[in-house]
Order: sequence, then C-alpha cells, then structure tokens
Amino acid sequence: MNPAHPIPVGLLGATGMVGQQFVRQLEGHPWFRLAWLGASSRSAGRSYADAAHWVQDCPMPEDIGGLLVQGAAPGAECPELVFSAMDASVAGGIERAFARAGHTVLSNSRNHRLDADVPLVIPEVNPEHLALIPHQRRERGWSGAIVTNPNCSTVTLALPLAPLRPLGIRRVLVSTLQAVSGAGYPGLPAVDVLGNAIPFIPGEEDKLGAETAKILGELRGEDPVGDPGDHIDPYPAVVSAHCNRVATIDGHLVCVSVELEARPSPAEVRSLMGGFRGRPQELRLPTAPERPVRVTEDPDRPQPRRDSMAGRGMTVTAGRIRECPILGIKFAALGHNTIRGAAGASVLNAELLVAEGLLR
Ligand code: NAP
Repeated sequence: MNPAHPIPVGLLGATGMVGQQFVRQLEGHPWFRLAWLGASSRSAGRSYADAAHWVQDCPMPEDIGGLLVQGAAPGAECPELVFSAMDASVAGGIERAFARAGHTVLSNSRNHRLDADVPLVIPEVNPEHLALIPHQRRERGWSGAIVTNPNCSTVTLALPLAPLRPLGIRRVLVSTLQAVSGAGYPGLPAVDVLGNAIPFIPGEEDKLGAETAKILGELRGEDPVGDPGDHIDPYPAVVSAHCNRVATIDGHLVCVSVELEARPSPAEVRSLMGGFRGRPQELRLPTAPERPVRVTEDPDRPQPRRDSMAGRGMTVTAGRIRECPILGIKFAALGHNTIRGAAGASVLNAELLVAEGLLR
C-alpha cells in the first residue's frame, strides 16, 4: 500500500552521525516527510544548519537546514512516528516518555533492544516479531510503542546468517573490522585511531551474540487475551565475537566461521544467501534493496552497490564463501554501518509498520 499523503515524521538525535544519515535517507522519501527535529539542550532553539556539524559527503538539504531544533520532549507538534538516534546514555528514558505520550519510536539505541516486549527487527529476517507491539502496549500501559533495529555489526552478521537457519546454526566465530563513523561524532581522537587497529569496542561483543540470538529467535506463546507474541525464544547458536575498530570512515566488515548441523558445500551456501528475499521485497517497500544479501565471487574489495534509490546502502555484500577446516564454512560480509546498521534500517522498519497497518 502507498499512503495517500506523505506521513510527517520526527527525528530525535537529529544532529549526530546517525541523525544526519536519517536526514539523507528521508530526503525525497515517497512516504515520509521529515517535519520535526529534536536534540539536546545544546542544540535546541537553533536552526538545524547552525546546530549540526554536517559531516556528510553531500550538501545538507536546504529545507531541513532551516528547521528549528527542538528539545527532546514530546509535544503537540511532534508527529506520531519518531525516529531516534540519541546517545545511549540518555535515549532510554526519553524514548519511553515519547512512547508513553503515544508516539511510535523507531530506535537505534541499545537501551531497549533486549527487553522481552520490544521487537528487535530486521524486516527481511523477523518481521513477525512486530507482533510483540500489542503485548508491549498492554504490559507498559502506553498507547505508543518502541521498535528497535540492531547494532550496526549485528545486522551485518545476522542478514547473511538468516538464510542458513534451516541448516541448523550451531556455532559462530566472528571478527569485526568496524569503521570510525560507528563511534559517532567527534568519536575517537585521530591520534588513537590513525595507523592503528583497536581491538576493543565497549559492549560490542556481547551485543553481537545476544542481539543475533533474539533476531534469529522464534516468536512463541499466546497470552490470555489471545495476542500472539508473548515472547521470543532466542536462537540457540553460540556466537563468539572479537570486535576491532579500524581507520576507515564507513562500513563494517565481519569475518565469520560457522558450524552448521547440515554440512553444506560453499556453493549451496552461496545459493542460499544470494537467493534470500523477505517481506520488504515481497511488499516492494520503497527502500528495500532488490537483494538483501549480494554474493560476490570477487577475491578482493566486494563493494556494496549504490545503483538505485531503492535500497541505497541497504545491501550486505557477502564474499569469499569457502570451506573452514574447523567449523565448516567461512565468509566475509560488508555492511554500511550508518545506513543498513542504523538510519536505513529504521526507515525500512517504519515502511514495514506502515505497510502492515501497525501505526495507530
Ligand atoms: P552521535 O554522533 O554522538 O550523536 C548523538 C546524538 O544524541 C546527537 O544528536 C545529540 O544531540 C543527541 N543527544 C546527546 N545528548 C542528548 C540529550 N541529553 N538529549 C537529547 N539528545 C541528546 O552518535 P551516533 O553515532 O549518531 O549514534 C546515535 C545512536 O545510534 C547511539 O545510541 C548509537 O549507539 C546508535 N548507533 C550508531 C551507529 C553508528 O554507526 N554510528 C550504528 C548503530 C547504532 P546534540 O548534538 O544536541 O548533542
């Protein structure tokens, strides 16, 4: 379905690294019109052009530059649908206040991702988890909702793993090489990161395991009122992660070894990943990529394609799919951390909510 009129949307954390990517993703969006911007008291009351330190490689959209940034509190002017890209140290309480006030919040922060009643969604992988929303509303006594998308490295891992679920994923060993834009702005001091690889990203390794298990997990249960979506049974695979920060600007690379109950050949894995499609492709959502996972046989530098408006930066590229002498199969995958790993993921979630009639 296409909405008859563009739906106004708000954006919390509009001035930050992910907030700026939202501004880009929403420019010219056929369904959504960015109408309200929120950030901290440092930015509130200033025009967006003045408050945001714009670091994108394209000009700031003129109509957005003139908008006045608001404080991060719900109010009459803020639209029902609100994207959130706030610093995790403050996001939890502010997002709950918006949901309590009736807003549907699409969050990029870690705060509520693992809450039992909050969907953590990759639309191609677990769209059925949105059935937690009515349960969440009743549990929390609010008319709004919080829906989350995964951490930027988790989505780059979970998307190529999802088509392997029928083969029984047992154990996953993953090493990440993560870009500096993943640390926000201003992020890491140049002297720390230039010419360096930093083998520690706080909290990241635990997130990769717990979020992947929830996303690949199964929606179960039926409560007394008859809502499906009582809870998610986490997928039982064991994930062990090493996370490293490297001096690239955008893009997270994950190097994965995986043990599967079935013992597929690399060719079978290639075919499963390359043939993977989900609900966004079926519904032809505006920013759904034609293929969520692009498989390449190139030995070097598999680049995500930026060939069309639909799916810009939303494809994860998987390559070097080959035998692993220890776990069975190994591959590398590359995803754009502020698009598929953040703003683009939220926008696709919002399109799914609209298409499935889940906005109030
Ligand atoms: P960032 O560049 O540091 O931006 C943080 C944003 O939060 C800014 O807009 C800032 O507004 C706002 N903020 C800070 N304190 C606030 C407060 N007290 N009240 C309201 N707003 C406040 O960070 P980022 O990289 O964009 O990340 C944003 C969120 O997305 C984080 O939770 C992060 O973990 C998550 N995330 C990031 C990535 C990535 O690749 N960067 C990927 C996935 C998820 P001011 O400018 O006014 O201070």
